[in-house]
Amino acid sequence: MSHQDPAFTAPGRFWRGNLHTHSTRSDGVLSPEEVCRRYKAEGYDFIALTDHFVGLFGYPITDTLPMRDAGFTTILGAELHSGAMANGELWHILAVGLPAGFAPSQTPSFVPVAGQETGPEIAARAVAAGAFVAIAHPQWSGLTLADARSITAAHAVEIYNHGCAMGCDRPDGAAIADLLLTEGRRLTLIATDDAHFSEPDHFGGWVMVKAEANTPEALLAALKAGHFYSTQGPELRDVRIEGDKLIVDCSAAVSVVALGHGTGAKAVHGHSMTRAEVPLERLNNSPWVRAAVIDAAGKRAWSNPIWTGAEGKNPRVAG
Ligand SMILES: [Zn+2]
Ligand SMILES: [Zn+2]
Repeated sequence: MSHQDPAFTAPGRFWRGNLHTHSTRSDGVLSPEEVCRRYKAEGYDFIALTDHFVGLFGYPITDTLPMRDAGFTTILGAELHSGAMANGELWHILAVGLPAGFAPSQTPSFVPVAGQETGPEIAARAVAAGAFVAIAHPQWSGLTLADARSITAAHAVEIYNHGCAMGCDRPDGAAIADLLLTEGRRLTLIATDDAHFSEPDHFGGWVMVKAEANTPEALLAALKAGHFYSTQGPELRDVRIEGDKLIVDCSAAVSVVALGHGTGAKAVHGHSMTRAEVPLERLNNSPWVRAAVIDAAGKRAWSNPIWTGAEGKNPRVAG
């Protein structure tokens, strides 16, 4: 039986983008123009400027249309905030592909207030308005599994947030993502910068989106369809399951890991590997399998989960 990651079979080419960025329209250091100039200069094909959507900043959906040109595009978006997580703090939800007229929440500042939309409600409203929605920086937020589970509208989880890596050593979303996948949630995984340019929080994690054109519409459709992978540098060229192996073609790597539910994981190590075949016996017939690739510099890349149709034979997980 063979299953292919659709990022590598979809038509088009890969476009490099950062989906989570701030500017002086909220608490970032640089103007929207300078943020776009720097990302373009660093070889990005697109970004989403996602300023904090709170009253303090005038509920910005930052206008980046003037920064689009033949070689660079932008997707309108915002980081949404409304309602409290279990720890009493305000939700952070990434929405990429919002309309310019997205109605304000009732969020005067970064403190939850009575009567405002819940996190799940504002996430659902963003999806209904056309956005690709991700649960932002789970580890930085101190999210519980119940918090994450409640955002039923989400398309994705931030598996890596570079700003949270540099600012507080809490970059990770893998633990929460893997638990949600194990519950059957068909989520994808994004790496982002969450750049404010107030510390070395930029150009560290991005998505490679497969689409036929570098347009906001094509990129957004590809994100929703899962036609992308996430990386800190390594390139993924193909990810597929053939029989009882995960096969990964990639730029030179030292480790290629297959991950599934429960304790299911298996790594293959080597020198300058551009292809790895990872045996899947150790994954306990997981219904989903994802790949992680690590290069000699310690930089990582992550595929989206491939759903295998397997039922999961691990008695500690099944049922
Ligand atoms: Zn945030
Ligand atoms: Zn942010």
